[in-house]
Amino acid sequence: MSFLLTCPNCGVREVTDFGYGGEVTFRPSSRPTQRELNTYNYFRRNVAGVQREWWFHRSGCRVWFQADRNTRTNVVLATALPGELPGASGDPQTPEASKAGGEGMVT
Ligand SMILES: [Zn+2]
Repeated sequence: MSFLLTCPNCGVREVTDFGYGGEVTFRPSSRPTQRELNTYNYFRRNVAGVQREWWFHRSGCRVWFQADRNTRTNVVLATALPGELPGASGDPQTPEASKAGGEGMVT
């Protein structure tokens, strides 16, 4: 499986240049219930279609950015720096830098 991603800084590159950071999620309220916290930590929507995701340009400028990708076809509809894609709201949590080492890498 291979496809192309457009880094907001560097332009179009093979997906092997990037690390996958997972779905964009949002922090719960400042005093979350146990259920809200568990949902935030352990559950993902796992959409079969277009979802907003974090990507890290591991072999390039090392910036985290977001992409709208169709998970069925791997067609990337848009990429942008955090907060710049249409429909962005709230304060998305940037994935931890520890994930940048290759965990979750798509090949
Ligand atoms: Zn880049």
